Order: sequence, then C-alpha cells, then structure tokens
Amino acid sequence: MNPDLSRRLILGFALFAAVFFFTLVAFHPLLALGVLFLSHLLILFPTLVANCQWWGPVVTHFETDEREVWLTIDDGPDPVHTPRFLEILQRFEAKATFFVIGQRAAKFPQELEAIREAGHEIANHTATHPSATFWCLPPGRVASEIDRGARPTPYFRSPAGLKNFFVHPALARRGLRLIGWTVRGLDTVSQNADAVAARVLRGAKPGAILLLHEGHRTASDPDFHPRCLERTLAALTRANYRCVLPGAGALKCR
Ligand SMILES: [Zn+2]
Repeated sequence: MNPDLSRRLILGFALFAAVFFFTLVAFHPLLALGVLFLSHLLILFPTLVANCQWWGPVVTHFETDEREVWLTIDDGPDPVHTPRFLEILQRFEAKATFFVIGQRAAKFPQELEAIREAGHEIANHTATHPSATFWCLPPGRVASEIDRGARPTPYFRSPAGLKNFFVHPALARRGLRLIGWTVRGLDTVSQNADAVAARVLRGAKPGAILLLHEGHRTASDPDFHPRCLERTLAALTRANYRCVLPGAGALKCR
C-alpha cells in the first residue's frame, strides 16, 4: 500500500476510534474499548515491526543480477572491534557500510577515519542509540537524534528498526532514506558464531541486506563479534556471494 495512504488511514482511524470511544463508552463499553484497542494496535504495529512500511518506505534489499549482498555493521565505531573488523573485511575483499552511533564516532575519531580510509561507507545510526525510547520520542528529539548522528551518506537506520510516526517526515526533509534489512545475524543475543553465520547465509540472496554488530561484549568476550564476521564472510564466500556497496540508486523497498 502507498505509505501516504496507509499513514492517513491509520491516523484517520485513530481519530475515529477516539470519537467513537467517548460517544459510545457509556452504552457499549466493550465495543468502544475494542475499537480503541484496535486503533492502538494499528499505530504500534508499523512502529515496532522493523520492516513494516505503513509509516513510510523502508529499504529492505537492492537490485542486482549478480550474487551480491550489502553487509551492514551497526553500533560502532569501537576501539577493540573496528580495527579487527577492518582486517577481516580486507582479508575477504569485502566492503561494508558501518551504521555508527554519533557519540561513539565523536569519541573514537581514529576508528571512524580508518573505516573511511579502507573504502567502506559510514552511515547514521542516531546520536545516542536510544533503543528503549526511540519508538516513542517526540518530533524534536527524533530530529536531534538524526542531526547529531553521522551524515556522510544519505542512509539512516533507527535503533532496533523501531520508528514512530515522526521519523519518516524528518528523514524526508533531510533527504535521508530509512534502511532496514533482509536478514540479521541476531549476533547481539546469540552465543554461537557458527549459528549467526548460518542464519545470515540462510537469508542471503542476490540483493539482500545483511545486519551484524560491533562494539558489544568487548569486555566479557571481545572475540565473539569478530568471529561472527569471519564465519559469516567465510560462509558467504563459499556460497559465491560478494559483499558490495550497492549505491543509493539500486535500493528497493518491499
Ligand atoms: Zn543499533
């Protein structure tokens, strides 16, 4: 469905539900509550379901005839992981886009520069990564999270893929596109690097967007995320996939 139309339908129904609730709650309380509940569900669904396009376009893949995928790495830069990630990427001749957190980029400028120097892309993953609250931030805070984040490419990824009603208009005004994913390794919750690599490979297909992370468990298990990257790249190489930077013109929404 056209995102403009789905936005209007959801908001129109929310308005109708509010009026309906206050008009009918005294006579048909269960029906009034049911309609109110449904309107909340319709607002929460596109907010909380990462690749749902009801609030606006979310890029979920790119166009290609080759066995190419777009590797994206979130949550850096990180002084422990970034140098190791760059070494592994170079060894596999893979390119990646690093969705960095603005305040980490400011704290670790050397790592950020090393990413750029190695020929990878840097993109915006908010200023402070407010993963628990981004879905309910008011428009001013959404704008500030975007504006204080990195801006070298026209790409934005929200924390955990959550985005509320205000995110798309803010991105559109700044010429930015919301980037989702085709498959994620779930490497921040998994304990097993081989399982992460297998999950990514199962979801891989020409034009897929793959999601891995850096900068987690750097104290408790600093080797885990580099191992996830290495196993994933090895699996992709065996399956004849190449990690490329697709370019904004090739990006597609579902
Ligand atoms: Zn993140």
